[in-house]
This record gives sequence, structure tokens and C-alpha cells, in this order.
Amino acid sequence: MTLTTRFAPSPTGYLHVGGARTALYSWLYAKKNGGDFVLRIEDTDLERSTQESVDAIMDGMNWLNLDWNRGPFFQTHCFDRYKEVIQQLLDTGHAYRCYCTPEEVDAMREELKAAGEKPRYNGLWRDRTDYPEDKPYVIRFRNPLEGSVIIKDIVKGDIEISNSELDDLIIARSDGSPTYNLTVVVDDWDMKITHVVRGDDHVNNTPRQINILTALGAPLPEYAHIPMILGDDGKRLSKRHGAVGVMQYRDDGYLPEALLNYLVRLGWSHGDQEIFSREEMIELFDLTGCNRAPSAFNTDKLIWVNQHYMKSLDPEYVAEHLTWHMNEQGINTDNGPALSAIVKVQADRVKTLKEMAQISRYFYEEYTEFDEKAAKKHLRGVAKDPLVLVQSKLAALTDWTAEEIHNAINATAEELEIGMGKVGMPLRVAATGAGNSPSLDETLALLEQDQVIVRIDKAIAFIDERVANG
Ligand code: GLU
Repeated sequence: MTLTTRFAPSPTGYLHVGGARTALYSWLYAKKNGGDFVLRIEDTDLERSTQESVDAIMDGMNWLNLDWNRGPFFQTHCFDRYKEVIQQLLDTGHAYRCYCTPEEVDAMREELKAAGEKPRYNGLWRDRTDYPEDKPYVIRFRNPLEGSVIIKDIVKGDIEISNSELDDLIIARSDGSPTYNLTVVVDDWDMKITHVVRGDDHVNNTPRQINILTALGAPLPEYAHIPMILGDDGKRLSKRHGAVGVMQYRDDGYLPEALLNYLVRLGWSHGDQEIFSREEMIELFDLTGCNRAPSAFNTDKLIWVNQHYMKSLDPEYVAEHLTWHMNEQGINTDNGPALSAIVKVQADRVKTLKEMAQISRYFYEEYTEFDEKAAKKHLRGVAKDPLVLVQSKLAALTDWTAEEIHNAINATAEELEIGMGKVGMPLRVAATGAGNSPSLDETLALLEQDQVIVRIDKAIAFIDERVANG
């Protein structure tokens, strides 16, 4: 039998990083074992499911490059099959009609609570056959009364739940629609899922699902429940903590490799290794290496991983992602240096690609004004002579290379008998409009020669005006 895992999101919002990590673990486990990875969209909650969310989930999966080789399956396409299984459970006595109204069930719960017992459905219709006519009913699973269910959880170890803790859950609502636990069971069975990897918020559902599978004579998958991701305050990660949707991380300037690497380590480890290529993840990942305790999301660490990938991945590849951010920020990169060259000089100067785009605008556009602080400090009267001289030397260069540019700056400083900084800083502000840039010779080499000359003119004019105004 082919080892098969699945990712089964409900399309009721974006792809949450917690969901993405579950998807990643499922995907890795399948890949590692040469198995199948199924994508199943659990869209039976018609009120909350939207096409927009389906798209957001697919976008997130595609962006992270987590490919599925079966699906996507949509539960809303399987209603006939669910009906069939519900009927099968009725026919074999594993399910029954319950005519209690919601109010009656509420009252039942209150009564049990008042008596100090666990509030639950008390099995009123379990053995009744005096069905009223024309009255709505739900269908409940006849949960075993005795014994217990043992989840042999790969991550958490054995978990035993007594059947006395479980009431007879509704598997079909009064309109005939199936409920979550039923649809999951039918799909996991039909799709031949061998390993259910999911968030541990589902651990309470598992004994119920095991009981239904057993009643159907279906094989039991293995289970791996992954602990939650927490925010820095120890509470479950949510919007309050900042970005939680996968695509938000793209928008914020992270590389998919960085987010994947960060997520694989968040809740799993292999010695003290921090950086894993995709191939290494597949080779080394194992569900048994997952933490039992929840992990806290740490943005600083994600930034560190992102910096690592911006610096170490092929600049051509990083440039593809940078292009997206340039477009997003309205920077036209049709003319100007190749983006891969920008990646090479900026990668170790920024935290994110968004920031890289922000500080690289001057390579593609004229700056509209000088950075106020930089201009105040460096575009002063004393900077005029060095700028004039270096401009003439730069204009005379026949080879517009970093090396020649470097020599021109050096020669200017020597001729005027001043420090390199006295030439370099005004020149930097002139060329970029700002006080910070990659190494000056490389920055200038990435710009056009004429462009630099014109920008120096602009700086000289600024100085003249400043001097004239006292
Ligand atoms: N659809 C469920 C959810 O999004 C997951 C169900 C499962 O993995 O069994 O929470």
C-alpha cells in the first residue's frame, strides 16, 4: 500500500502559517517515503467556505512549492458518497435517528451539569423505534459504551480515551448534510490515507473518528498530531500577533525557502542544524522528531533565515522574487541594472526583499530629493571642490567599472589631500540621494556613467543654493 498523507484545509480564510506547517510536515513525510500527498478542500460548511479562500490556500501552497499529486478534492462534490456511508451505518445499526430538538439537547446538558456530570447527549433515542411522523431528526453515531480508544500518536505517544467520555455524535444534520467527523472519516478511508498529520486541535475528534472507522470495518490510519504554534505571549498564534497568512509573508518580503525552512524547524529538529535545503528536509525529516510541546513563533529567527537565503541562493532566482516587490512598489526595472546585480550588493544589507526593493529605487529612478539628514551632513560648501573634481575624473573614464571608479575617487582624495570619506560621502549622497548604499564603487558601476554625472550636477547645484542662502 502506498504511504499517503493529506492536507485538508477548510477554505474559510487565508492559509495560516500553522496550516502551512502541517501541510509541510505531511508533504515531507509523503515525499520522504515515496508516497502520495493529497490536497483535500473541506468545504462542507457552505456559509463559511469561499472561493477566495480556496484560491488563497492554493496560492499559499504554490508559493511554498508544496505540490500535491492527488487532488484537489472538494468535499462538496462527495455528498452522495457521504449519504451512502450514513445509510450503511444506519443499516448496520451503528447509527440511529434522534428526534430531540436542539432545545431538548440543551436541557439534557444542563441537567447533567447540575448533577455534576459531563454535559452531553444522554442517548435518549439510542434504542427507540417509536419514530414520530413528519418530524425532523438528526442521525447520531452509536458510540460504543464500554472500553476505550487508544490513539497511537506518532508525535504524542499513546493517548487513551474512555468511551464513557464520548457521546453519540451527530453525523447527519436534520437537512441530511453530513458533519465534519463523518466526512473526514469517509474521505480518509476512500482516499486510502495511511497517515493523518494534523494540528493537535483535532485530537479530541480522533477517538470519534477511530470509532466510526472501526464501525465501517475500515483500516485505521496512523495519526500524528502536531502541537500548536504560539505567539510571543504564549497564546495561540493569531492575527493579534501580526502576520499569520502565508501570503502576508510574501508581501512582507520573505523568500518561500526561508519560510519553509523556518517552519520545518519550528516544532522539529535534527541535532542543532538550522539550515535545510528542500532535499535535506525530505531526507532528514521524520514525524518522530517533532516536539510534543507547542512552539513559539520568533520573527527575529525568521529574519535570520531569510537573510541567509537572500545571500546564499542563486541571485538570479532571488531576483525573480525581488521583481515582484519592485512591481509592487511601482518601480519600473525595465531600464537599469540587472536585478540579480542588485541582489548581490544588497542581500547582506537588508532583512527582507521588501526592504531591498525600498532601498534600491535610485538604481531605476531619479530620486526626487536628497535624504534630509544626509544632505545636511555631506552636501556642504566644503564638498563642492571634491565633487567637481571627481565628476571630471568620472566623466573622463572610458571603462565604467568599479575598479576604475575606485581609482578616480582615490585620485581625487590624493590630489586634494583629503580623506577618502570627504570625497566618498558627498559622492554617495549625490549618486543615490541617500547616506547609505552598498560600496560606493560598485554602486556607481551599477548606475550609468551619464546618470552619475547628472546627479553630481544636482548635488553641486544643491550646495550652491545652500551656500547662497547662507
Ligand atoms: N478541515 C480541518 C481544518 O481545517 C482539518 C481536518 C483534518 O485535518 O482532519 O481544521
